[in-house]
Amino acid sequence: MGQGHYYRSKRKIHLRPQFFIILAAVVLVCVAVSSVVIGRHNTEKEATAQSELTDKMSGFSSGFQVPSAAGVMQMAVNEQKKAGGPKVDAELRAKMDEVKAKLAADDTADLKVVFFTFDDGPSEHTGEILDLLKKYNIKATFFTNGREGKVMEEAYQRIVKEGHTLANHTWSHQYSLYNSPDAFYADVEKLDAYQKQVTGLKQTSHLFRFPGGSANANTTCTQGIVNRGYNYVDWNVVCGDGTSNSLSVDQLTQNFIDGVHKHNVSTVLCHAEQKENTRKALEKTFKTLLKEGYTFLPMEYDMELPRQL
Ligand SMILES: [Zn+2]
Repeated sequence: MGQGHYYRSKRKIHLRPQFFIILAAVVLVCVAVSSVVIGRHNTEKEATAQSELTDKMSGFSSGFQVPSAAGVMQMAVNEQKKAGGPKVDAELRAKMDEVKAKLAADDTADLKVVFFTFDDGPSEHTGEILDLLKKYNIKATFFTNGREGKVMEEAYQRIVKEGHTLANHTWSHQYSLYNSPDAFYADVEKLDAYQKQVTGLKQTSHLFRFPGGSANANTTCTQGIVNRGYNYVDWNVVCGDGTSNSLSVDQLTQNFIDGVHKHNVSTVLCHAEQKENTRKALEKTFKTLLKEGYTFLPMEYDMELPRQL
C-alpha cells in the first residue's frame, strides 16, 4: 500500500506545474521536522493540518499518517515486515486497517476490538486452541518460544496457515538474559530463524513480547529490540493465569470478560497453551464477547499497541 501511494503521488507531481513540486518539498520538510520533534505519538493539530493538505495533493486516503522523507523509507520497511504478518481475507484486512489508523490517531472511542494473545507456546494443546479459534472464526496472536519436534512444528505451521499472527517471545524465555543484551538479542534471533525455517515464511511478523513484559526487562533491551526492527507489545488485560495456578474456570472467564469491558481496544494476555483452566475458559469468553459485538483481530507490525516500558 505504501509503495503504491508513493508511486501514485510521483506520477501526479509529473502532471502538475513546478509550483506543486515546491509545495510538496516544503510540506515534506515540515512533516519531517515535526515528526522528529513530536515523536511517535503525534497528535498535534499542526501535523493533522499538514496531513490533510498532503492528502489533497497526493490522493492519500484519509486517516493515513503522512510520511516524512525518512517515513517513506520506513513505510517500505513496514511493507516488508507486514509480509510476515497474518494472512487474512479482504474483510478482516479492511477492519485491521481501520483499527490501525484509529490507534495511530488515538481515536478509538467507537471501537470494540480484542487482540487475544497466547504466550509461552506452542504446546501439545495448541491444536485444541486453534480448533476453537477456527470454530468461532477468531484470529489471534501467538507469542511463542523455541519448541521443537513434530507436534510443535505442526502447531507453528497451523498458526500461520490459519491466519493468526506468529510472534516472537524469545527462544529460551530466560529473564537472566536481560543482563546480557547481546545474548538476549541472539536468543530472539534464534527464534526468528527457527520460525522461518519451520513455517517457510521469508519474513516474520517482527512483533515481539518480552518474557515477563517490557517492565521486566530494561531500557537497553527495549531500545535494542526496536533498533533491530521489532515492535514490542505488552497487554492491558490479564486473566490472572500468569501469576496464579489456582484460579477456577469461572474466575478466569470472568477476568477475561471484565477486563475486555474496560477497554475500547483490549490486548489480552493468557497462557492457555500451558494452563488447562485457561483453555476451558476460552469458549465461554469468546461466545460472550462475540455476542456483545466485539471483533477479534490478529496483530500486525505497524499497530500501536500497549507498552509498559
Ligand atoms: Zn511468557
